Amino acid sequence: MHIQLLPQKIPVGISRCAVGDPVRYNASHKHSKVCTQLLGNCFELHSYCPEVAIGMGVPRPPIHLIVSDRLRAVGREDPTMDVTDALEAYADQVVPEVEHLRGFILMQKSPSCGIRTTPHYKEDGTGVLAHDSGLFTARLRHHFPHLPVEEVGRLNASDIRENFLTRVFAYDAWHRYVATDLRPGRVIEFYTAYKYLLLAHSQPLTRALGQFVSNSRTMSVEDFAYGVRGKMMEILNHQASRKDRTNALMHSQGHLKGYLNKEERAELARLIDEYRQGNKPLSAVLTMLRHYLPRSPHHFIHSQVLLAAEPAELGLCEFR
Ligand code: SF4
Repeated sequence: MHIQLLPQKIPVGISRCAVGDPVRYNASHKHSKVCTQLLGNCFELHSYCPEVAIGMGVPRPPIHLIVSDRLRAVGREDPTMDVTDALEAYADQVVPEVEHLRGFILMQKSPSCGIRTTPHYKEDGTGVLAHDSGLFTARLRHHFPHLPVEEVGRLNASDIRENFLTRVFAYDAWHRYVATDLRPGRVIEFYTAYKYLLLAHSQPLTRALGQFVSNSRTMSVEDFAYGVRGKMMEILNHQASRKDRTNALMHSQGHLKGYLNKEERAELARLIDEYRQGNKPLSAVLTMLRHYLPRSPHHFIHSQVLLAAEPAELGLCEFR
């Protein structure tokens, strides 16, 4: 597997009010420049407003979610106005249109679009029982359980933004490299290339994935691929910690040290330790590792996504 520059942007869905369209219940918007300007550099944004799509109009009476016989979307002022079925039917109907998307950015707290911040009220609308998904998001995740999703507001934080970019790029790369030519060998090649990046996100879960891969001989290729993709996306969903990243960098260093002289080995070890202590950026270590990479003849270390690019650059990479 080789990593090359990707010429086009990655298609990602987004709540319509976040791109500046005044489609909220009160005819306002919640434009996020982080999404349209910063992430717009790597993503081709496709916007959706479920409430407008089911004909609720703008402006419209606000709705909220209540826990009744099931989760229901009803009018805040008029609880007899129930749009549960319409919202769910829209989410089911839009599936073929969103199948090509490699991520979805959704508006927090919305009864339709929230991911984990939408209030679920008691049936009489008085108190909040839980904070969880909006109705459109819940159906979307039912159809695409591994699709990377993130809330608009959380993307203002650089570490969460970087994590979302990493997940979208991995999901997109999977579709380009594995899904187009589904064979167990391609799945293993893909997982192997991500191994050190996965280690940087969670050591225990990466070890568990390794066991899943070794015990998969009797599985159909579809079940194997589904299992590996699901576990990879779950691991990447964990924020990469400095400690786990240091561990992944030390593994990479181990592959190269046979090709370095004593001073080079010491300098690289010192740099990794300075990164561990928070005194040097990750990019400094990656630059040095990449500098020494051509000395190794081993394909495994050359194929590591961890060393290929910074997270923000990964979206520009093509897997062949
Ligand atoms: S949060 Fe979702 S449903 Fe509400 S206005 Fe934005 S896009 Fe429309």
